Amino acid sequence: MLTRSPQELWSQFLEFAEERCSATEFENWLAPIKVLESSSEEIHLEVPNVFVREYLIDNYKKDLCVFLPIRENGEPAITFSIAEAKKAAAPKILVPAAQEQSSSPVECKLNPFYVFNNFIEGPSNQFVKSAALGVAARPGRSYNPLFIHGGVGLGKTHLLHAIGHHVRENHKKLRIQCITTEAFINDLVDNLRNKSVDKMKRFYRSLDVLLVDDIQFLQSRLNFEEEFCNTFESLINQNKQIVITSDKPPGQLKLSERMIARMEWGLVAHVGIPDLETRVAILQHKAEQKGLRIPHKVAFFIAEHIFHNVRQLEGALNRLSAYSRLMGLEVTEEIVEKTLGELLQQAPQKRVSVENILKSVAAIYEVRISDLKGGSRSKEVAFPRQVAMYLAKELINESLIKLAASFGGKTHSTLLHAWKKIADQMEKDETLRRQIQMARRNLEA
Ligand code: ADP
Ligand code: MG
Repeated sequence: MLTRSPQELWSQFLEFAEERCSATEFENWLAPIKVLESSSEEIHLEVPNVFVREYLIDNYKKDLCVFLPIRENGEPAITFSIAEAKKAAAPKILVPAAQEQSSSPVECKLNPFYVFNNFIEGPSNQFVKSAALGVAARPGRSYNPLFIHGGVGLGKTHLLHAIGHHVRENHKKLRIQCITTEAFINDLVDNLRNKSVDKMKRFYRSLDVLLVDDIQFLQSRLNFEEEFCNTFESLINQNKQIVITSDKPPGQLKLSERMIARMEWGLVAHVGIPDLETRVAILQHKAEQKGLRIPHKVAFFIAEHIFHNVRQLEGALNRLSAYSRLMGLEVTEEIVEKTLGELLQQAPQKRVSVENILKSVAAIYEVRISDLKGGSRSKEVAFPRQVAMYLAKELINESLIKLAASFGGKTHSTLLHAWKKIADQMEKDETLRRQIQMARRNLEA
């Protein structure tokens, strides 16, 4: 039945996927995949590492079944090889850095609690955690640089230090430095003053792993940006690992194009706000570490009311722990309300549901809810459906997979595509912007 060669089928799939993901995503994940030999029953792909294989299957399994041959059990007929052997033979292996022992100008301090084992995984951070683990396991040989971005208190520094710990324990010979961007700048200022910049340069350029926290502080520090960029390039060109955290994605940082392009070279990964279940799991994990027992119901209550970030959640727990210790009391909902009073005053996020969104969008665009959930591609229905998907992603703190499933079983890439499309269009289209504002107000009222 297949008249095209597997190579052609694969190219068609790539074209299809390219339209559905960002350019960075495409470059990082899909472009590196190679077709090895193939027959009309099966295609043999070479991937740079297991993450790429997982990414491909997790995100595109259904689409792969459309484009490629399938097995009897309905799975896409793909065999994977990992390009490991070749990589190991390449001259790119990370060799412990130069013997030069220029001592660290700023001590590399890692928070002992910030290890992978203490990092609780959920849909909002699964991807970034596995990327961080990948980098820690094979520094300089998986994603380079790894760029982690997300809002405050969501675990960026935690992951950065976790990479540091892992490398220290498992690659003892590698020279590693973990530094905040501010400390880097201060260090540079001191060295300029003492005319010892060359020494500093030598130190940074002799590292194997450089972990840089909060790169947003480099914005508007033009003089320092250039030195940082040079250090960066020198390390990357020697295949030394760099990991950077930031409160924004590279493209939104006010930095030179050169710097932004460098940061986008590797993998850009986002840490999102954890959903309710993950917040409960984090609370319980942290409580356990403190030797505090919190009934599940109470943990749920706290997590439902404190939802902006994990740091706030920890603050609440510290307060609760201190109070219950001092007073010798068990943690109950009553104690929670008493001790966390004003922290909980913020009304819990209004629970917007996909059903409410569908209802509201159906009313605005005069279509049926069943059409919004259906598969029709006619513009009258497809556009309102995309608006509903946009609103769902904006207003509901839930994994994309679950959200997409509530739209009559769509895939998360469809939802993401819809979200991007509407977000782009809103920039240009005043009417759409107003319609969406109106729907939001109705839903949140
Ligand atoms: P950021 O650097 O993004 O502002 P941090 O890494 O400092 O945030 O995290 C704030 C606090 O929340 C830390 O104590 C960290 O251990 C904790 N934290 C954040 N995310 C998680 C998680 N997924 N699991 C466990 N603890 C977390
Ligand atoms: Mg931080």
